[in-house]
Formats: sequence, C-alpha cells, structure tokens
Amino acid sequence: LTVLFSDKQVYDWSSEEEEPDGRARPVQVLLVKDDHTFELDEAALSRILLAEEVRDREVVAISVAGAFRKGKSFLMDFMLRYMYNHASEGWLGDNEEPLTGFSWRGGSERETTGIQIWSEVFLVDKPDGRKVAVLLMDTQGTFDSQSTLRDSATVFALSTMISSMQVYNISQNVQEDDLQHLQLFTEYGRLAMEETFLKPFQSMIFLVRDWSFPYEFCYGQEGGMKFLEKRLKISENQHEELQNVRKHIHSCFTNISCFLMPHPGLKVATNPHFDGRIAEIDGDFLNNLKILVPWLLSPGNIDVKEINGSKITCRGLVEYFKVRAKDRRV
Ligand code: GDP
Ligand code: MG
Repeated sequence: LTVLFSDKQVYDWSSEEEEPDGRARPVQVLLVKDDHTFELDEAALSRILLAEEVRDREVVAISVAGAFRKGKSFLMDFMLRYMYNHASEGWLGDNEEPLTGFSWRGGSERETTGIQIWSEVFLVDKPDGRKVAVLLMDTQGTFDSQSTLRDSATVFALSTMISSMQVYNISQNVQEDDLQHLQLFTEYGRLAMEETFLKPFQSMIFLVRDWSFPYEFCYGQEGGMKFLEKRLKISENQHEELQNVRKHIHSCFTNISCFLMPHPGLKVATNPHFDGRIAEIDGDFLNNLKILVPWLLSPGNIDVKEINGSKITCRGLVEYFKVRAKDRRV
C-alpha cells in the first residue's frame, strides 16, 4: 500500500522492517516481550535522535499514551499533518485525502505494549528565536490483567519520564480506573526520581475522547479544565484511597490540563473502509481538532524537556532514556 503524504513524500507501508531513505515511519523503540521483560532498541533511538541536524537541539518530547483502539494513532496522524504543513492555515489538508502516518487501521496487526516514535524529528522555531527539535511518541498498553497492567504501568512510567508533554488519551470519561492507572504509572516514575526536589514531571494533558455531555461541560480546554477540577477535587468525605490518588497526581506534574473531544462520527468509529478523509468526519470533531492540535503543538506552546530544572537536548534524551530503561525499580 503506497500513500501520499502532504509534503509529497511517499510512504510505503509494505516495507515496515526497513527504513527506506527519506521515508518517515513509526519505529518501535521500546518493546515489552511475552516474558514481561522489555527491550530498548538503542540503535534505532540513536539513529533518530543523534542525527546531525537534531542531536544538539533542545528537545520537545510529546507522548500520546493510553489503551489500544482509542483513537491515538488517528489523532497522531493529524498531529503529523500539522507538523508537515508547518502549522499553516490549511494544515488540516484536503477533504478527500486519506490519513497516513502512525498506522491506525484495525485488523491483523499485532498490538504491542511499548513505545513507538516517529522517525522524523521536526525542527521548529519557537517565538523566542530558539530552534527546537520535536519528537512524537506513541505509548500503548493494555490493562486487562495483572501482568499486562504491570507491563503497561512500566511503559507509561517511562514515557512520562522521558516526555515533556504527556497526553493521556482516554475514552468517554475520566473514570476512577483511569486515575488509578495514572497513579500506578507515576508511582513507578516517582520512585525512580527520588533524587529530585522539583515535581518530577512536566505537563499532563487528559484528553477525553467521545465526550458526550457538552451541555454539562463544553468541548475543548475550558470545559475540560472545569470538568477535571471537579473530577480531581479532594473532599473530606471521599475514601482515603481516592484522596491519595488525587494528591499524588497534583504532586507529580507541573501542569495539568484537560481537553474534551466530541465523537468523530459513525463512519470513523464503525466503517471498516474508512480511510481517514476529513470529508467523512463530523464537523464538531474537526472544529475541535483545529483547536486541539495547535493548542498542543504550536511553536509558542511546546515545552522543552527538562530534567531537574535543566533543559535537555536530543543527545541528552537518548542517555536519559537508556538510564531509565535500565533502572530496575521502574
Ligand atoms: P489506537 O489503538 O489508540 O491507536 O487507536 P486507532 O487510532 O488505531 O483507532 C482505533 C479505531 O477507532 C479506528 O477504527 C478509528 O477509526 C476509530 N477512532 C479514531 N478516533 C476515534 C474517536 O475519537 N472516537 C471513536 N469512537 N473512534 C475513533
Ligand atoms: Mg495506535
């Protein structure tokens, strides 16, 4: 299957094993194996992050994390469009253009718990004149059994540690489950970061998909913040465990925000032949996508990854990733 991307590069999905010149694609850099051990592909990570143009640039690492089949890849492909179209007015592209990038169609593909990164690191000029490198990561896991929960928690902890912005993609609502998972991830992360006096993580963005109560809390970031405030509120008559989850989440992140996304429409959710063209996506969804993606990725909004208060480069991120992946406590 050969598809055309917005900047006229051709991606050939039949050769996923190799990296043909000039063709960007998702690359699995962290993989959880069947025996629950995990493997970091240092060669792939180095190939991407130590490329000459990017290695000494400060890095913005954006991860989208969450369970399988909740529209992460679908969203990330729009993030790619925004990046490839250089944040221009018409970044969303043509009505009939199929969506490509992180593979998002269902089917026979094996679902692997782990982290994939986009093989192309984008260079972006921040409004203050700095040129930074932007890395996109897809973090996925399953939460259906004790062992998969543990694996996923490990992977999520790692991606939270190495990213500057973690987008937690959840379906329909922020359930107690989602918060408990988050506590588990961040607990792992915190153990590995006992050495710091600062909050260990930067931004956490709760992204609620298929939000269906816009009359209670409206779509977007403002409604999201009000909703999250209510959801994360600590009250005395709550069970202690529920209180702790909330305190914990507040103590881990410098910024916490939330965005409520509408349902994309039945064609997206149920039609097996849907190819991602925006002509078949609900207008409400597209309107919010036009707000969400620049809110996450516009040059003024992206944050460079910091460790203990210092900004780090792509080179630094590779080293940090290696150290964290070896840490037995995580
Ligand atoms: P991922 O496993 O989280 O990366 O999910 P995918 O992006 O592969 O999407 C899984 C399925 O959900 C696909 O059939 C998409 O068309 C569909 N999908 C994408 N976004 C949404 C959404 O916001 N809501 C719903 N209900 N379905 C979506
Ligand atoms: Mg996916």
